[in-house]
Amino acid sequence: MHKLNGSCGCGAVTYSLECEEIKAVFCYCKQCQIHTGSDKWFGLWVAKDKLNLNQTNVTSFTREGDSGQDLNHLFCKTCGTTVCVDVTVGHFYSVAVSTLKSDQTFTPSMAIYTASAPTWAVFPQGVPKFDILPPGLGG
Ligand SMILES: [Zn+2]
Ligand SMILES: [Zn+2]
Repeated sequence: MHKLNGSCGCGAVTYSLECEEIKAVFCYCKQCQIHTGSDKWFGLWVAKDKLNLNQTNVTSFTREGDSGQDLNHLFCKTCGTTVCVDVTVGHFYSVAVSTLKSDQTFTPSMAIYTASAPTWAVFPQGVPKFDILPPGLGG
């Protein structure tokens, strides 16, 4: 069991989480590029009931995912940091690894939506790549 803490850039939004196994995923979809200002989002996938988020200073942006179901981006009202994304179709949160307090040595388990990656994207070696999603994952 991993117990981790994190916060947004200004510290107004804090959270703690527990997860059995580390499932950390690089997502190269266009929306993740826009949100991060980078080639990808690095998300730690956490079951819904395992994330304890202090909602006081959180606001959200909802968009439709490929599945047709909502993705709710939860971000800080003050500094704008997206702390996590509520992936309603999968019943999990994709928590921004960048917002974790301690420097965790996560290895990405897979890279998804690589077909949407920009030409200058950097792919880690030895990490399975999927054009969109791996089979069986209805994102
Ligand atoms: Zn903040
Ligand atoms: Zn994405």
